[in-house]
Amino acid sequence: MLFDEVVGHRAAKSSLQRAVEQGNINHAYLFTGPSAVGKFIVARAFAAALLCPDNGCGECNICRRVITEKHPDVTVVRPAGKNIPVEKIREIRLDAFRKPIESDIKVFIIKNAERMWEEGASTLLKVLEEPPGNIVFILVTANPGALLPTILSRCQEIRFTRIPPDELKEHLLSTRDISPDRADLVVRLTGGVLGRALDWCDEPWRLARRDNVIRATRALRRADINQILEMAAELFRDVRAPVDELVSRYKEKKDGLADGSLDNGTVKSLSKNLDEECRREQVKEEIRGVKEVLSTISWWYRDILIWGEGGDAALLINRDMEDEIASESGFLGEWDLLECMDMIGESMRAAEQNVPAQLNIESTMLGIKGVLYA
Ligand SMILES: [Zn+2]
Repeated sequence: MLFDEVVGHRAAKSSLQRAVEQGNINHAYLFTGPSAVGKFIVARAFAAALLCPDNGCGECNICRRVITEKHPDVTVVRPAGKNIPVEKIREIRLDAFRKPIESDIKVFIIKNAERMWEEGASTLLKVLEEPPGNIVFILVTANPGALLPTILSRCQEIRFTRIPPDELKEHLLSTRDISPDRADLVVRLTGGVLGRALDWCDEPWRLARRDNVIRATRALRRADINQILEMAAELFRDVRAPVDELVSRYKEKKDGLADGSLDNGTVKSLSKNLDEECRREQVKEEIRGVKEVLSTISWWYRDILIWGEGGDAALLINRDMEDEIASESGFLGEWDLLECMDMIGESMRAAEQNVPAQLNIESTMLGIKGVLYA
């Protein structure tokens, strides 16, 4: 069963499962909880359970197509850039009144539903106020407060929380090729957020990058300015590598369009869409990369601070480097460490405001050198 493959979220899963089994389905659900915690995975499993004759077996053609987002009666809406375009919601409104193509039910999953601005939200509200027969809306959001109260009041809320560390570790060990020590580390680094934890397992360069960042951070003490700039350039290359990979994935997708099955006009407009999406994804991935680098540095100094204050080893994020943390804590003062962490926080905000990544990493490293090791 698809629900069984989802780790954690027992209460949410069982209430949805019960609804499916009893045929007691609402027209609108609101899935709330921290981002990347698994809301969307459950939403998809729920959609499959609604359509599949075996309540979401995970094996049949229907389930497979729902999961790969190829089923004509399940529509997934995502923001384009910062918002969900109102045209998209209008399309959904029209579509909601058309008969399902293959099933007796139609499902619309709206990711980041809080990004519908006013016009989109009131268009959706019109459907929710008088929903046509076999329609299920699943609004997914980490920020329900940003939705219209009139929309909230028409949805059944399903809450998601972070997965307990032991449960998440168990899941990583049973589904991924990872050692118990590394699984522990991933659970701590990602704070129990399933989506992120899976990314860290499936993209091993993230762990390699974390190791590089800590190595560079530890080398700051003895490095001169040239070496610091060289290290920053290296970390920047680590940030860029997955971005470059992403660009080449988009290029492949674009090349695939010209296989002769589509007319020229369609190819042109689809490839324009892909170009735009690629540009947005590049920016997102680079910001995410820089923030990951910066937070790795910040966690490192946080651990040293905790250790220096006599904190428990169980509180450390980088528990695999306890000895190194203990030896560094002998040199560094509490106030300097706090100042340093503040500074890194500033750099994280700068990353979100599109300060060039390499410059941001350089100035952070030079700043740390100045505060801690000058
Ligand atoms: Zn099935």
